[in-house]
Amino acid sequence: MIRKTRLFTPGPTPLLPAAQFAMAAADIHHRTPEFRAMYTRVLAQLKEFVGTKNDVIILSSSGTGAMEASVSNLTSPGDRVLVLTAGKFGERWTALAKAFGCEVDVVSAPYGQTFSLDQIKAALKLETRVVFMQSSETSTGVRHCVPAVAELLKDTHSEALLVVDAITGLGTTHLDMDALGVDVLIGGSQKAVMIPPGLSYLAVSQRAWDRMEASYNPRYYFDLRKERKNAKLGESAYTPAVALIAALAAALDWIAAQADGDLAAGRKKLIENAETVSAMTRAAVQALGMTLFAPDAPSAAATAVLPPVGVDSGVIVKELKSRFGAIITNGQGEMKGQIFRIAHLGFFDFMDTIAIIGALEQVVAKSLPSPGFAFGNGLIAAQKVFAERSAAAAAESPCLCGRTDACCSLKHADVGASATLVGAK
Ligand SMILES: *Cc1c(COP(=O)(O)O)cnc(C)c1O
Repeated sequence: MIRKTRLFTPGPTPLLPAAQFAMAAADIHHRTPEFRAMYTRVLAQLKEFVGTKNDVIILSSSGTGAMEASVSNLTSPGDRVLVLTAGKFGERWTALAKAFGCEVDVVSAPYGQTFSLDQIKAALKLETRVVFMQSSETSTGVRHCVPAVAELLKDTHSEALLVVDAITGLGTTHLDMDALGVDVLIGGSQKAVMIPPGLSYLAVSQRAWDRMEASYNPRYYFDLRKERKNAKLGESAYTPAVALIAALAAALDWIAAQADGDLAAGRKKLIENAETVSAMTRAAVQALGMTLFAPDAPSAAATAVLPPVGVDSGVIVKELKSRFGAIITNGQGEMKGQIFRIAHLGFFDFMDTIAIIGALEQVVAKSLPSPGFAFGNGLIAAQKVFAERSAAAAAESPCLCGRTDACCSLKHADVGASATLVGAK
């Protein structure tokens, strides 16, 4: 059979055709009124997409560039910071903070899980300057509960800034940055906004802008204050990735068009889409006898799955590509061979989801001497989830995380008056 190549990877994600056309036509110089008009518009749209009144900065870098900028702009050597980690991207925060001379406290949870609020309470100190975390830990398919951590910081009157890598959280999780009091929220171009890699963006609170003045870590290309100054004039400090910015404008227009031009409503639809597609996938893999790697706090960005016992996840990854042209991802680092991951953030629809589940049935059946499921079992489970979610869509009242099912293993009710800072009088 012929095969169409299709990405089911959590970054890069499938490209939006309208964005690709916009890129191809982006023959614009970056010091012209044309560019300034486009850049100003994209920055305003991004605020709406992130859901914030805070200033948003775009950097020409992959997502890690914005993570590094958060560390270099907000900390000074010797600062105490707290990293919440349960996977490869959490570990990146630790490495970055150490690289810039921070004293790093770490709260960790095993891969596939999220941390408990008690752990965080115990690790938070009076002198903690910044808390770094992921909204969605892409390496394990876990959603961490940003609202619970934000509330804890508020309740304990912590001076710590909250910096959230929402690179796969944006477009998959309802995150009200301003109401929660998140100080930096980071996104990347090759994720929910459906364009190629090469841009990162961050929304930055006033508290964080103020903190930058006190930081004496070295920074030059990633000096956020300089970018902010230029952004106010419709420009970037250095030559921006013009084509990607044109693509981003087209993608944000497309997201708005999903809700009659209302970008905030379009963002919600994109999140609901990821929620539905991920719920279909979770139901399907379980109906095929496989186990979810992150059953308690699953991310809507990507589903991590333990393959059938005795099967290397790399075999599933390889066979999906060679037989069906479907690109999924293996586990990262020591999780390689142990799990496979299927992405849902961005440009994935019902048809894509049914197709990957159908292909997965073929590949898993072939990997076992006797499959233990009938063809169609995964598809039936996914179909049911889709029908139920479509029927229930209007009638739901979301929790703080914006989800109706338990968003994570942290209980919002846990965050209460009893919370105190370690070392507080
Ligand atoms: C993709 C991703 C990043 C950024 O990685 P880059 O390769 O630098 O774009 C950071 N955090 C998470 C959670 C991610 O999924």
